[in-house]
Amino acid sequence: MEQVLELKHIHYSYHTLNGETPALTDISFSAEKGEFIAVVGPSGCGKTTLLSIIAGLLEPEKGLVKINGRYVRDSVTNVGYMLQHDELFEWRSIYNNVVLGLEVQHMMTARTKERAHELLDFYGLKQFKNSRPSQLSGGMRQRAALIRTLVLEPDLLLLDEPFSALDYQTRLNVGDDIGQILRKEKKSAILVTHDLSEAISLADRVIILSKRPASIIQTIPLIFQLEEDTPLNRRNAPEFKTYFNLIWKELNSNE
Ligand code: ADP
Ligand code: MG
Repeated sequence: MEQVLELKHIHYSYHTLNGETPALTDISFSAEKGEFIAVVGPSGCGKTTLLSIIAGLLEPEKGLVKINGRYVRDSVTNVGYMLQHDELFEWRSIYNNVVLGLEVQHMMTARTKERAHELLDFYGLKQFKNSRPSQLSGGMRQRAALIRTLVLEPDLLLLDEPFSALDYQTRLNVGDDIGQILRKEKKSAILVTHDLSEAISLADRVIILSKRPASIIQTIPLIFQLEEDTPLNRRNAPEFKTYFNLIWKELNSNE
């Protein structure tokens, strides 16, 4: 199997006027191409720090990060980052928001523009291309934000609690929706969340982090016997509760 991500012995501390805050201790894991990994851990344990290191926004104190076999600092364009808030610009239409990354990276070609239209059509935003973000529901905006990331064809998608700003009902639907889009597009993704249900409904594997400074407590592969393996079907499957209890126990054993 081809590895898209490799992390080895990552350590990171923040240094401020008040002293040192260790955030990550000895984090090692890898992700295979097309794999969807969820990283769960208590609030403030170091999840966003970990994603920032994978994205190359922070440099680890110790350890190495490779994406597609190359050191992160040597490659900038192949990681897509999706945040808690959709960060769409109100003064731009949905289409112009979706192609923003292409513009910034000088990748506006006939082919990439066509791809943007294709994704908008395919994922139900065809009639909203000329609308403003405020005219869309929270879920639709999050889908537009995902399409903006996907048109850049990232090798690896990083999702930082991307649904946590949505209300419960919307969160379930959007999580389901985005999970299925990522599977259809065969994207490798790392989702960090403090929501166990979200992790279990979406991922191939869950990595459990301790409280700060985060270290890996355990990694749990998720296997569901489902005819149609979708996030919503998972939530109703008997395995769901078993995994939930298992991960819950691991998280709390760390208290
Ligand atoms: P999480 O995403 O799991 O909630 P973070 O990675 O954002 O956690 O933060 C981990 C810890 O590092 C927190 O305790 C936070 O207070 C601290 N931290 C985060 N960013 C900074 C920063 N820029 N300067 C100092 N400390 C920080
Ligand atoms: Mg965070």
